[in-house]
Amino acid sequence: MKAVHTELHRSHDPQFFLVRGVVKRTTEQPERADRLLKGLKDGKHQLVEPITFGQGPRARIHSPEYLSFLSEAWDAWTALGDSGPEMIGNIHPVRHAATYPTHIVGRLGWHSADTAAPIGAGTWAAACAATDVAVTAAQMVMDGEDATYALCRPPGHHAYRDMAGGFCFLNNSAIAAAHLRQRHERVVILDVDVHHGNGTQGIFYARPDVYTVSIHADPVAYYPYVWGYAHERGEGPGLGTNLNIPLAIGTGDDGYIQAMDVARKAIESFAPGALVIALGLDASEHDPLKGLAVTTPGFRRIGQAIAKMGLPTVFVQEGGYLSDILGANLTSVLAGFEEAR
Ligand code: ZN
Repeated sequence: MKAVHTELHRSHDPQFFLVRGVVKRTTEQPERADRLLKGLKDGKHQLVEPITFGQGPRARIHSPEYLSFLSEAWDAWTALGDSGPEMIGNIHPVRHAATYPTHIVGRLGWHSADTAAPIGAGTWAAACAATDVAVTAAQMVMDGEDATYALCRPPGHHAYRDMAGGFCFLNNSAIAAAHLRQRHERVVILDVDVHHGNGTQGIFYARPDVYTVSIHADPVAYYPYVWGYAHERGEGPGLGTNLNIPLAIGTGDDGYIQAMDVARKAIESFAPGALVIALGLDASEHDPLKGLAVTTPGFRRIGQAIAKMGLPTVFVQEGGYLSDILGANLTSVLAGFEEAR
């Protein structure tokens, strides 16, 4: 399996992370990509540089005002004169009968779901590079590859059409799915990140053509808390094309594989033409965010289960934080896929 990667992610190096009232350094660091890259090299995957697709694929998913905000944000922020080293909102409007603001502090709040997506000088460039990585991987599958992997950083699955959050700015998995939709009438996104893919769910919630499935730690006790429950099934023409499979905190390999079986049956009945895997590796037993307890051999079984769905597949990197086995878990899931194909 070929893997798409660029060093351009490095310009995004956020620092601020607010956890239960305590300010920490974020877990979404550039070193993540170094460890994932080592996992790709250990798995002997051929590395490919992304093609620059530009704004078109991003504009299929994100609103014009949101893309303008992200591209202009840093310059407007530094022009304030008394602003901090990263952009973090201090208003979080709930938008009832609200007016879209013109001031950068207002726009920052409008376009943020939480404080976990600080914007720095190089955030926009890195986020754009990540969408090019995802779209390149999708294009390679449309051009005949059976499966590809996209090393995207920053991740994307918490980003909505017009709202950042949870380390995410542009929804790489959603953008890859929209690119595949040019070829396939129905596409599935299966999100195996430990966190519910709330942005992805929100983007496609009313659409019948993209089936969103997420297996994640139960939001009753885990981020994002207010999305990711089993009763969220889509709305309007999209009713029935969203499936959430929350798992009890601490669930291990066997419970996870059972959930994969439920997901596989649902996906088969949708009869899609292609599959995007929102590949979080933070369900690992050793991940610092401790939600689920999947082992390295367990990730191999997850890769095998994905392969058995028999669909052209684009793996898009989502979460997965610094641990000694982050790279090994990537090697494992991709090896499992390849051996079961
Ligand atoms: Zn995650």
